[in-house]
Amino acid sequence: MKIGILALQGDFIEHTDIIDKLGARPVPVRQPEQLEGLDGLIIPGGESTTMLKLMHNYNLFQPIKELAHSGLPVMGTCSGMVLLAKKVFNPDMNTLSLMDIDVRRNAFGRQVDSFETGISVPLLGDKPFPAVFIRAPLIENTGPDVDIMSRLPDSKIVAARQGNILAFSFHPELSNDSRIHRYFLEIAAGFRSEDSKETIVKAAIPAD
Ligand code: GLN
Repeated sequence: MKIGILALQGDFIEHTDIIDKLGARPVPVRQPEQLEGLDGLIIPGGESTTMLKLMHNYNLFQPIKELAHSGLPVMGTCSGMVLLAKKVFNPDMNTLSLMDIDVRRNAFGRQVDSFETGISVPLLGDKPFPAVFIRAPLIENTGPDVDIMSRLPDSKIVAARQGNILAFSFHPELSNDSRIHRYFLEIAAGFRSEDSKETIVKAAIPAD
């Protein structure tokens, strides 16, 4: 299974390592051709304004958007989440707009730029997930098709899923817990089998 990691800026190496450890093939993505044949794509944390600019410069913006619309599983962490959001505050920006969420950048204020805390992600079981927040964004609103995966004790939303798109405020690649990446790989495996189902169905239709 091939998982693309957008490798323009930010902490793509950490995602690469974890995907490799889990037995899938990580593919650093810097050119549109590298998007071919992927089973999933990860947009890492870093600096969303810079990453957005580079995505345009390297002609990756539109192809990524189209692949996500066609069902490719995409996971965004921290600034990756900002880039997936339909609406961004602080300041506004023109993102990939793949998920019906409103996101506030740098939502925790300067005095608490970074922290780590165990959060509840019911989908992953009872054990809290060690979540690393670094100048993290928050989800302020979700549309009707968005499933909330995790909230902080004060009910702030920090993880969500809309179909094939996953978004996390924090950095699952910076902790020793691989459950979120495993979960993403399960979704990615489903995408490929949907694909092969389609191929099988097509093969079964008799030609004229
Ligand atoms: N504050 C950054 C942004 O808005 C995100 C920080 C991060 O990815 N750790 O892009």
